[in-house]
Amino acid sequence: MPDSVKGAPAGPLRLTLDCQALADNWRWLAAQSGTAQAGAAVKANGYGLGAAEALKTLAEAGARVFFVATWAEAVELAPLASGLELHVLHGVRDEDMALAGALDARPVLNSADQVRRWREQGGNRPCSVMVDTGMNRLGISVSEVASGLLQGLNCDLVLSHLACADEDVAMNRVQLDRFAGIGAHVPGCRMSLANSAGISLGRDYHFDLTRPGLSLYGGIARPEAQGHIRPVARIDAQLLQRRTLLAGESLGYNATFTAAQPMELAILNLGYADGYWRGFSGRGRALAGDVALPVMGRVSMDLTAICVDAMPTLREGDWVQIDFELSHAAQLSGMSQYELLTGLGNRFERRWA
Ligand SMILES: *Cc1c(COP(=O)(O)O)cnc(C)c1O
Repeated sequence: MPDSVKGAPAGPLRLTLDCQALADNWRWLAAQSGTAQAGAAVKANGYGLGAAEALKTLAEAGARVFFVATWAEAVELAPLASGLELHVLHGVRDEDMALAGALDARPVLNSADQVRRWREQGGNRPCSVMVDTGMNRLGISVSEVASGLLQGLNCDLVLSHLACADEDVAMNRVQLDRFAGIGAHVPGCRMSLANSAGISLGRDYHFDLTRPGLSLYGGIARPEAQGHIRPVARIDAQLLQRRTLLAGESLGYNATFTAAQPMELAILNLGYADGYWRGFSGRGRALAGDVALPVMGRVSMDLTAICVDAMPTLREGDWVQIDFELSHAAQLSGMSQYELLTGLGNRFERRWA
C-alpha cells in the first residue's frame, strides 16, 4: 500500500470523553462512600468509553480497586500499575486457570466448584468471593458460607450485589441484613456491597469498599446523584449531505415520515450500528449551539436525518452535537442508561480530553 493511502483521515463521528468529569465523578462517589474505599467497575470496555483510558484516569484520581467481567478484559488492562488491584467478576473456569496464574488479577469466585478449583489449583493465592443475597445470578449462598465453604481460603474480599438499589424497596434492607450476617464467617476479610445506586442508600450499605460503575461514566442511578454527577461522553456527528424534502416526499426506510411542507434536512453519519438506537427515530435531537434539531424519520444502521430548517447556514462537512444526556436519552429511546453507554460502537473516534 503506498504511504499516501495509509490511514484514513479522522472519521465523521466523534466521541469526546471528559477525563476531568470522570475523575470528579469518582471523587464524588468516593466522598459519598464515607469511610469506605471506592473502587471502580471498568468492565465492558469501561462502559463503552474505553477501559484502559478510564482506568488510567481513575487511578490518577485515587482509585485502587478495579473490576472487569472476564479474563479477556483483564488481559486488555495488563500490565497493571503497581498498587492497583484488578478483580475478575465472572470467576475462573478450568480453561482460565493458566491465565489466572500468569496475570496480575484475581478471580471473584462464584460457585462451590470455583472455590474448589482455586483451592486445588490456584496455589492459595488471594481471591475474592461473590455471595448471593437475593439476586440469584452469580454467587455462593449464605448457607454455604455459614457451613464453612470458605475456611482456609485466601479470600480477602467478599462481595454481594444489590438487585434494586435504584429503587426504594424492602429488598435492599433484606439483602443488606443477609450480607452483614456473613461477616462473622469471614473474619479479616474486606466486604463490599454497593454499586453506584447503592452508595446513595447510605452508610449501612458501604462496608469496606464500594463498586461504582454507571455513575463514573455520567449515569444518574438515583435522584441523589442529580447535580453532582457530570456527563463524560459527548457525541458529535458530521453532516454528510444537506437536502430539501419537498411537500409530499417521504424520508428513509419504510417512509415513516412524509413532509407536509418543504423541509430542510441534514443527513448525519450516525446510526444504530453506532449505538444510536432506533428508539430515537422521530424523537431524538441534535444540537447546533443552543438550537435543537429534531431527528426525522427512522434511524438507520449508519445514517440519521435531522431537520435543519432552524439552521440555514449549516452545510455539508459541518458538525452537530447529539443530545445524549443519559436520563433523557434513556426515556426517549426506551433503553437504559447502561445500554446507551455500553452500546456505543467502535466507529467513533474516541478522544480523551
Ligand atoms: C457492574 C457491576 C457493578 C457496577 O454497577 P453500577 O450499577 O454500574 O454502578 C458493581 N458490582 C458488580 C458485581 C457488577 O457486576
